Amino acid sequence: MKIGIIGAGLSGLTAGRILAKAGHEVIVYEKSKGYGGRMSTRRRNGAAAVKLDHGAPYLTGTSPEFRTFIEELEAKGIVAGWTDTVSCYTEGRILAEMPGREPRKLYIAPEGMNSIGKYFSRWMDFYMSEKVGGITHIGGSRIRKSPWMINSSSINVFEADAVIIATPAIQAYGLVSTAQDEFDIRKMITLIDDISYTSTISFMAGYGERNPAVWKAVVCDHPVLSWICNESSKRDYSGDMNLVAHTTHRFAKEMIELDDLNEAGRRIMKALGAILGSWAARPEWHQSHLWRYHLPKKSLDMPFIESEDDLAPLALTGDYFQGRSMEAAYLSGLKLGTHWVEKFS
Ligand SMILES: Cc1cc2nc3c(=O)[nH]c(=O)nc-3n(C[C@H](O)[C@H](O)[C@H](O)COP(=O)(O)OP(=O)(O)OC[C@H]3O[C@@H](n4cnc5c(N)ncnc54)[C@H](O)[C@@H]3O)c2cc1C
Repeated sequence: MKIGIIGAGLSGLTAGRILAKAGHEVIVYEKSKGYGGRMSTRRRNGAAAVKLDHGAPYLTGTSPEFRTFIEELEAKGIVAGWTDTVSCYTEGRILAEMPGREPRKLYIAPEGMNSIGKYFSRWMDFYMSEKVGGITHIGGSRIRKSPWMINSSSINVFEADAVIIATPAIQAYGLVSTAQDEFDIRKMITLIDDISYTSTISFMAGYGERNPAVWKAVVCDHPVLSWICNESSKRDYSGDMNLVAHTTHRFAKEMIELDDLNEAGRRIMKALGAILGSWAARPEWHQSHLWRYHLPKKSLDMPFIESEDDLAPLALTGDYFQGRSMEAAYLSGLKLGTHWVEKFS
């Protein structure tokens, strides 16, 4: 079966790998230039030396399936243990450990979180920088014709026997809505139509050579910042200090309304100075990235959604199924892939 997957994030890549290993032809359509979706890494000015995870900063999980996955990545040298504890900022000071948090091993990717997506890429074919604008159901009974057309926002049209939409729920809603207005598809839309996401701004900053910070990450109780990560502790840099900070949803929303990332940057630097000391308000360079879809505010109590039409299979997978995390994205993709391997063997 020729399966088109929209989205090269963890859920789509996980489902795709299982299906490709089972002998299906899997083609992934991804609107951005890189693999991994929200597990993404930015190279500062294209320099190989400075990599900053401006999406999800680390990997951790509790389910046996996700632990097995982390073990696979560790065995391949793609992830490595980072820390069991994180610091926290509360009532105007930094505590070495967050009170009440059970120690849990966090893993980072020394080459950047996007190397996890790159690792998956060997099993599938990709169209990168290919934004899908819609899907068309052309009918399962047509002889020698595939039941689906995937329409890119450019002029390209691709045929597929089955489609998996592996994007955040809001984008999936838009894509499913472009398919024919059939009862089955309307049912899918109804299930996902009230899933909204928190937003965040990732602020990346470099400070040049500095004494290494004693903390690896600080969870912040602060109106502007929720998380500060010492990126230099993930990679062996030449003594340079690089940070990635994430803002609170409330602050990101305010900045979306203001439509001014420069103003956001100024306020974030001020907050960094207040939390870490005045040096942190004066980086040598900085960049901001707005994530409209950070984490789902709620999740669905099912592992994935699929249409009932087996002649034109269509399914949704992602981090909004049975959780609100990377682990949820992985498990959703895993369960969908395994189910389709059994169903369409
Ligand atoms: C700043 C930040 C911090 C985070 N921190 C954590 C954390 O600490 N712990 C945790 O568990 N999770 C965290 N997350 C969330 C985690 O990254 C996600 O839950 C997970 O990666 C989602 O995977 P996914 O496959 O569901 O979706 P995504 O990774 O979003 O993948 C979807 C892909 O679909 C592509 N796409 C969308 N629309 C189209 C289209 N029309 N055509 C083609 N391609 C399209 C997107 O470009 C993207 O690559 C964080 C996320 C961010 C942004």
